[in-house]
Amino acid sequence: MKILVINSGSSSLKFQLFNMENENVLAQGLFQRIGINNSYLEFNNNQDELIIEKEIPDHITAVKLLIDTLLSKDQGVLKSMEEIEAVGHRLVHGGEKYKQTVIINEEIIKQLEKTVELAPLHIPPNIAGIKICQKLLPNKAQIGVFDTAFHHTIPEKAYVYALPYKYYQKHKIRKYGFHGTSHKYIAKRTAKLLDKPVEELKIISCHLGNGASITAVKNGKSIETSMGFTPLEGLVMGTRSGDFDPAIIPFLLKKENLKISELDDVLNKKSGLLGVSGVSSDFRDIENAAAKGKKQAQLAIKLFNYRVQKYIGAYAAVMNGVDAVTFSAGIGENSISVRKNILNELGYLGITLDNEKNKVRGQEKIISADNSKVKALVIPTNEELVIARETLEILNR
Ligand code: ADP
Repeated sequence: MKILVINSGSSSLKFQLFNMENENVLAQGLFQRIGINNSYLEFNNNQDELIIEKEIPDHITAVKLLIDTLLSKDQGVLKSMEEIEAVGHRLVHGGEKYKQTVIINEEIIKQLEKTVELAPLHIPPNIAGIKICQKLLPNKAQIGVFDTAFHHTIPEKAYVYALPYKYYQKHKIRKYGFHGTSHKYIAKRTAKLLDKPVEELKIISCHLGNGASITAVKNGKSIETSMGFTPLEGLVMGTRSGDFDPAIIPFLLKKENLKISELDDVLNKKSGLLGVSGVSSDFRDIENAAAKGKKQAQLAIKLFNYRVQKYIGAYAAVMNGVDAVTFSAGIGENSISVRKNILNELGYLGITLDNEKNKVRGQEKIISADNSKVKALVIPTNEELVIARETLEILNR
């Protein structure tokens, strides 16, 4: 059985086609710069890696090109689209309503349209992706997997902000949390590697990529997470500020004479590692600049690590203990020095790092010393695979 997973963003569209008999990826790729000039498709079918440059004015053109490429004689991996059983969509925001994976119908699309305000950059392209697949693959089940769903177990005391309560009632302003599919996968794999039931563990899951978040998973449930009403809250990210004093917002609006949309841009696109380092949003570039002595790049790395360290302490506190700390995503999976610098500050929790075991990139591994009371792990995340599995599970129900 084959399942197509689609992650439709505002100017990009990522996809993976799985053979669910062995969970192999048959093809994967990414459309970039949809609706902008110089758009292209990066396509990989396990034999060739190609870049198809083509004008892609909108998402429907992208999905049409995707179908053509999957079926093409030279690079294709399918004889007919009938081989695909269903399409699993990554949906960024389920609001308060959607606590699990859903079979998408008209009612769900209407509900999604009502939640656009909660993630105006993400929900419209998600809806567009669904509608296009419904149109071009009309007899296929469309399944929605929400990034927020895993966090629906967070208690009220953690998700309500100390703002006038009426704003929660009127506008649903609260913590939602994101990267849920990833944190759920990481928690399950952590339990598997430790050979213990996830229901008996207190896990701190650190998803450290360009977007970064950290989640306290107690007995298999998310009870606290660092991203909030939007993915801006929490850790220092590639271009997002993470936590800061909200009084800075009116101060900056006045001092810099900024429009609200300009400040929004500063906080989401010009802050974080990019803003502090002045070099790049990409961690590897910053590490290179830091190694060459660039002070702001060194500072950006320190801020990044320190914020993660602070959250791990806080999440050990909210769970009244911790059994495992797991690192994932681009930086967490690959940066030996980030893990070392963070974990070496956590001796008080009972974590002892094994420096040899920590010399690992992109591989599942326990990296703490054998006698470490609290375990540290690296687990590469795989959100697309989780979406494919959830899609299959709902079809089999
Ligand atoms: P996202 O999915 O949020 O776009 P990723 O999980 O792909 O992000 O992570 C991207 C980040 O991972 C980038 O900052 C990149 O520099 C960093 N990264 C990738 N490989 C390495 C590495 N070997 N060492 C340090 N950082 C790395």
